[in-house]
Amino acid sequence: METTPKRNFEDGVALHELPDGGMISGSVGNDDAILARQGEAVFCVGAQCTHYHGALAEGVIAGDTVRCPLHHACFSLRTGEALRAPALDPIPCWRVERVGDTVFARERLGDAATANTGDAPVITLRGLPAAVVIVGAGAAGLAAAEMLRREGYAGALTMISADGFAPYDRPNLSKDFLAGTAPEEWMPLRAAHYYVEHQIELILNSPVDSLDLRRRCVHLADGRQRDFGALLLATGAEPMRIQIPGAADSQIFYLRTFADSRAIVAKAADAKRVVVLGASFIGLEVAASLRARGLEVHVVARGRVPMERVLGEQLGRFVLELHRSHGVVFHLGANIARLDGTQVRLTDGTTVEADFVVAGVGVRPAIALAEKAGLQVDRGVVVNEYLETSTPGVFAAGDIARWPDTNSGERIRVEHWVLAQRQGQVAAKNILGCAHKFDAVPFFWSQHYDTTINYVGHAEAWDAITIDGSLGDRDCSVAYQRGRRTFAVATVGRDRASLQAELAMESVRKAAPT
Ligand SMILES: Cc1cc2nc3c(=O)[nH]c(=O)nc-3n(C[C@H](O)[C@H](O)[C@H](O)COP(=O)(O)OP(=O)(O)OC[C@H]3O[C@@H](n4cnc5c(N)ncnc54)[C@H](O)[C@@H]3O)c2cc1C
Repeated sequence: METTPKRNFEDGVALHELPDGGMISGSVGNDDAILARQGEAVFCVGAQCTHYHGALAEGVIAGDTVRCPLHHACFSLRTGEALRAPALDPIPCWRVERVGDTVFARERLGDAATANTGDAPVITLRGLPAAVVIVGAGAAGLAAAEMLRREGYAGALTMISADGFAPYDRPNLSKDFLAGTAPEEWMPLRAAHYYVEHQIELILNSPVDSLDLRRRCVHLADGRQRDFGALLLATGAEPMRIQIPGAADSQIFYLRTFADSRAIVAKAADAKRVVVLGASFIGLEVAASLRARGLEVHVVARGRVPMERVLGEQLGRFVLELHRSHGVVFHLGANIARLDGTQVRLTDGTTVEADFVVAGVGVRPAIALAEKAGLQVDRGVVVNEYLETSTPGVFAAGDIARWPDTNSGERIRVEHWVLAQRQGQVAAKNILGCAHKFDAVPFFWSQHYDTTINYVGHAEAWDAITIDGSLGDRDCSVAYQRGRRTFAVATVGRDRASLQAELAMESVRKAAPT
């Protein structure tokens, strides 16, 4: 097959070829690049997102930023900095020179997001905490630590985790890693040397037992302690455990950690059949991944339509049929009554054979520490718009944080990877005294076989669902509306529409009175 040679931007591009707000793909030397235009300004940056290598040319330009179509990472077109998670690393950036009506890519500019090179300008500690402690080394914890160093914070920085692994790509645990298409090497978010180079003390396998907010110190279960000037709690969530009559603990698997996912992989290696309890996002991603491993998969769920409460009936039914078309057998409106060896007896009288059960029946925010320390909690750790808890200098982010959402005017708590990272980033800036309000539009994605659902916004209730396009063709936007206002948009096969929906919601937020 013939391939069209890439445009080399060093050879120049006529301005009329690049419409305002548009992008074109090409290269600079051996690097893939895009030229992007915003008004009279033309930028040249790397072509791929540093998160999952999404093609930025298929994303959107917003002001002097470009957003990735896959998981909504946002980069500065001026400097290449990864402004907003999920990407943490910058993209390359070249100087653009205009000669008459032609623009040329010139030399590569220095990496802006200097945290990645360890060359960040150091900011002095006057007025800043001498030590920052982060409890939790997941999405929010790592993003916060990374942002503190990127912003030049030079004080002591400790990240403590109950998990035995350094921060890893948790969403992948139910997707490609579980399906066997992503090797273990892809899972760490940072290489081991990163923590050393950035002087981040990473304490693993060490649950924090209590917080002394008066003395400003955290106590680890093994007796160690760390003093802090500022504290970030990012302890995430824990899967809800279930009791099944007749079941041994070894027959029931949960999925939150790397170790959990490895355990399922090991079990699946010599198993033929599995029952997944719960048609949740995680439950159904597990179903898809174990089908990819050739297991017979039965999903048992109480509801009649998977994920109806979040996605509505039509999209829920679409997901149901998608899984059925891949051979998943559903037992809806049912629960597991008991286990007799490999016989899984359901409440509807059916019996299913299974070598093991994976339970995906929801999670609970891990707020015990906060509660014990006397922080204000209400189905999560209550934080203000700066993500600060009821105790000054103590912040919370990620799955545990219940924050005032600008869009709905309500305090909400969500369990999304990108949101947790972005909260970690904003909390880090606020620890440094930046007074940034957290006002990002929530975003999550879920992957089932070759189909990804992107969801922006937050709609706990709606009075209308409008579908543009066709679910059958996997090409549609689903808008969740209340009183004619759109609170959330789910898309299938329309990544750019998802980004545009995010931008539209951001502009509504900006226009809202403060
Ligand atoms: C299998 C799976 C797939 C997912 N897929 C998606 C997806 O596709 N898209 C999406 O948007 N979201 C997804 N999520 C949700 C997403 O991963 C979470 O919302 C996100 O990880 C929350 O980040 P966090 O930092 O709040 O918590 P976590 O990432 O869970 O990190 C919490 C950290 O706190 C530590 N910890 C807890 N208690 C203590 C303690 N007492 N002492 C010390 N350390 C402690 C834990 O060990 C862990 O390191 C998925 C989640 C799972 C489990």
